Amino acid sequence: MSFIGWMYDLAREQSPSEERLDEIFTRSREVGYQAVARYLEHRFAYPSAPWAAGPACLTPEVARRLIARHKARGLRIIPFLNTLGHMEGFIRAEGGQWLRESDTTWGSEQTCATRPECREFAWGLVSDALSVFDDEWVHLGGDEARQLGECPACAARLAEIGKAGLFGQYYGEMCRRVLAAGRRPGLWSDMVLLFPEALDHLPRETLLFDWQYDHRPRDTTRRLRAAGFDVICCPAVHTYDSVWCHLDLTRTNIDEHAEDAAAEGALGVLVTTWENHHFTSYAASIPLVYAAGRRLSRREDWIRALLATAGPAYTYAAEILGNGIPSVSDFLRPGRWRRLRDALVLRLNPFRLWVVWRDEATGRVGDRILALCGEVDAALPSGHPLRFPSELHRVGVLWVRAVEDAYRAYVDRDLEACSEQLAVAARILARLRPGLQAAAEWGGSHVDLERLNAGLAFVETVRTRVRTLPPGAYRPAFQTLVNDRYLRTDQAGWMTTLQR
Ligand SMILES: [Zn+2]
Repeated sequence: MSFIGWMYDLAREQSPSEERLDEIFTRSREVGYQAVARYLEHRFAYPSAPWAAGPACLTPEVARRLIARHKARGLRIIPFLNTLGHMEGFIRAEGGQWLRESDTTWGSEQTCATRPECREFAWGLVSDALSVFDDEWVHLGGDEARQLGECPACAARLAEIGKAGLFGQYYGEMCRRVLAAGRRPGLWSDMVLLFPEALDHLPRETLLFDWQYDHRPRDTTRRLRAAGFDVICCPAVHTYDSVWCHLDLTRTNIDEHAEDAAAEGALGVLVTTWENHHFTSYAASIPLVYAAGRRLSRREDWIRALLATAGPAYTYAAEILGNGIPSVSDFLRPGRWRRLRDALVLRLNPFRLWVVWRDEATGRVGDRILALCGEVDAALPSGHPLRFPSELHRVGVLWVRAVEDAYRAYVDRDLEACSEQLAVAARILARLRPGLQAAAEWGGSHVDLERLNAGLAFVETVRTRVRTLPPGAYRPAFQTLVNDRYLRTDQAGWMTTLQR
């Protein structure tokens, strides 16, 4: 295989120090990676968009120093941008609102494929990257452009050229500009697989990154190869869709991509890692990335690779966290998304976890998870990064149980006991703070501490609601009382059925 790399998602609230990046790049080379891709989005201080440079984002100066040092040691550092979809970090910064394609946001946001000023803005970002990064490849993103054709300017072209034409013409031009600058453009392949006619617009030198996280890439890579393109197969470390990581899923996904890349004549494999915020962190999962490097470059057995990169305690604890715990809970098993973190953290209302996980967490499944967390902790020294995912599982179970106790008191009309139980529950949640602080100091998310604070503040809000219930026999259902949209005396609570 001529290419083995991994992609570091700096865009999702990461702010590692130069020393941390030095260490990561050095280890990446040691374990067999030829390249580290840096997924940047808005987390780079682009000279052409100074208004978008947030606190502790990567600067051109630091990037240049790291490139110079690690290029000399044989490691490629490849810039990964986004230039159409996933532009929310720009669009939601003051001064970037004009880039928005439409109001139909789905969490992420897209810029416009038609307006010349949007195309030139995107080209400005690419030019900035070309001036700082000197690798032959520059990745332009292009994934999940789900709002294609929605603004009036794009809609006017849509009837004639379709989404394939909108996407293909936009990236055809940008890829040709990259080639004219003496570099080679890359794109994620999901949009061209969805709209294959778009491939007709792309120069054949464009590299297509075929990411298939739920199944092997054989069929899609074969289609892209048959269309005449070089392909890089892209598996994922499954942290973004789990509480910590789905370990077997990760290993299988990476192995299948390596097999299919070889069989279908792809250039190689890029192991992607996504997000690592919302109470996950690279500090806890990067040994898996290093193990994947040994596996891909030396065909080493997975266990041996993990033992070599992280030692026996990590390897043992990873098996429990990554396979053992997900196998005892239907709620946590692979394929059910990151439901624990989604309900506890992402929506800033931790009571959602009580709503969706009561039965398991308060019963035998919860007991089993607590026992497994105990085994993880017994294997690891205090302060070890894997102690946090263990604590997160434990806090999840104990939090739901404490809220259940508060609910029982509410049913019994003992409102003072209910409020006291909620205070107990808040103290359980607050146990996550030291681990979140450590992850932030390592170079991970600083926003997660704000998320914890928001969750704790909401517990206080609910305690106030308990203390200020309307007089009389009627009380709102506890599920309504803990809803974000609860209003005192709004008995029908129409708005409480809306989930977002
Ligand atoms: Zn548009």
